[in-house]
Amino acid sequence: MNGGIEKAAQVIRESHRFAVFTGAGISAGSGIPVFRGDGGLWEQYNPQVLELEYFFDHPDDCWKVLAELFYAHIEHAMPNAAHHALADLEAIIGTFPVITQNIDGFHQMAGSSDVIEYHGTLHQLKCLVCDYSEMINFKSLLSLTPTCPLCKTALKPDFVFFGEGIPPNAQFRASDIANSCDVLLVIGTSGEVMPAAMIPKAAMHQGATVIEINVGNSVFSNQEPHIFLQGKAEIILPAILEECKIV
Ligand code: NAD
Repeated sequence: MNGGIEKAAQVIRESHRFAVFTGAGISAGSGIPVFRGDGGLWEQYNPQVLELEYFFDHPDDCWKVLAELFYAHIEHAMPNAAHHALADLEAIIGTFPVITQNIDGFHQMAGSSDVIEYHGTLHQLKCLVCDYSEMINFKSLLSLTPTCPLCKTALKPDFVFFGEGIPPNAQFRASDIANSCDVLLVIGTSGEVMPAAMIPKAAMHQGATVIEINVGNSVFSNQEPHIFLQGKAEIILPAILEECKIV
């Protein structure tokens, strides 16, 4: 592992167009459960609750699960050592884009300056009928379905449900970065959610070096060119940061 961290730090320091792609695993150390992998939420819940059609038909049921899945965890959770290490890395190698599948806002809270929220955010609510939007109010969310003050429709969290498209600006920037980066650091993602999983694949395809951090295997783990660091992001990223300071 030590050799892997040194190698990763060297590759990052020597890169010219460095970028990062993160998934739920980077926030596991903040107490936010992942969907897949050991203890993942899909062992307890049916993924149907995040389908757009299900939300339209059963907004109250959906909100009850959303409160349990995300909002009960997120209210008091904070970015962890992995988010902070990425933000601190900017002081050493300069600003770089972080494409995140996460909806928790932790990269921005930690101080990363160029975050692309590929799947949107759970901090904002929107009305699918009249385009009204507002920031979340945690206390009222945990007890009842939020409704649009203008048209009384159930508000939806402004993150991408199954059956919804990726926000066009996020898709455009993410594709551009995947096609032009020379090193992509991929952290805590199973690689099973499409089209997000195309980002590392496109980077590999155009010849970028991919460094992956994951506690287990993902769909990317056996593909080349690839440096695989097995372990927790909140342990490995601070170690890479320290190594980058001395490389
Ligand atoms: P996923 O749940 O499919 O996979 C999580 C991955 O993280 C697994 O491969 C697992 O082995 C790995 N992992 C778990 N703990 C880790 C740790 N401490 N360090 C490193 N790796 C760890 O997640 P995904 O690939 O991001 O796709 C799921 C979708 O669910 C995404 O779209 C994401 O938006 C959403 N999601 C977001 C959050 C969040 O915002 N915090 C939480 C759950 C799910």
